[in-house]
Amino acid sequence: MATFLPAETDLLCERCGYILNGLPPGGNCPECGTPIEQSTTGRILPLWEQRDTGRSDFVRFVVTSRQIIFHPGRFFRTTTSRGDLAPAQQFARFHWFIAALLFASAAWIHWKIVFRFGIDPPRAKLLAPLFIGAFGAILFTTHLAARLTAWEAAYRGYRLPHPVVLRAMYYHAAHCFPVALLVFLTIGGYALRLIPCPILAYLAILGAQVVGFALYLFATYWIAMRNLMYANR
Ligand SMILES: [Zn+2]
Repeated sequence: MATFLPAETDLLCERCGYILNGLPPGGNCPECGTPIEQSTTGRILPLWEQRDTGRSDFVRFVVTSRQIIFHPGRFFRTTTSRGDLAPAQQFARFHWFIAALLFASAAWIHWKIVFRFGIDPPRAKLLAPLFIGAFGAILFTTHLAARLTAWEAAYRGYRLPHPVVLRAMYYHAAHCFPVALLVFLTIGGYALRLIPCPILAYLAILGAQVVGFALYLFATYWIAMRNLMYANR
């Protein structure tokens, strides 16, 4: 049985996915009763893309990041899913840069901790390849996830074309910040002996963080996709 995939021009109920084509805009969804108006006017540009608000790039970047990190459901439920990819990509690049810098520094410090147990010390110039490696890994994972998501969604009949998924992944990049910051603080805190524990406990904490952060990034990715699969604009 072929899966039915709604067309880009179909008006979907943003709550349940029912096709509302031709129904009076003042009415309710026949399937779930949600006002149709919510599905036609419920999304606005993210603050980051509202360049005419008189607020600086920095403030719009910080406020948008805060909305994504603390209220991911609300952000992806009320943000336009279609549109220019360039500003969203710029937003992601800033976050990838910050995260890669924190990850590279954390990896370098971690290496220095391990050095105390007999491995060659890392030199400062190793920060550059660590940074490039971290940035490249984030970039690769993001694009792979976007491709796989668009492919899987089309297969299952959800209207999540690649540009929509990619745009969401660009904004989801804000979630890299708390992850990278906590990894950096853990490793930095241990190196400065602010976290007094044996090295095995430290390694166990790092291992638990890897698992926890993978779950966190997947959960927030899932929140984004769930709130975009019936988006109209
Ligand atoms: Zn509905």
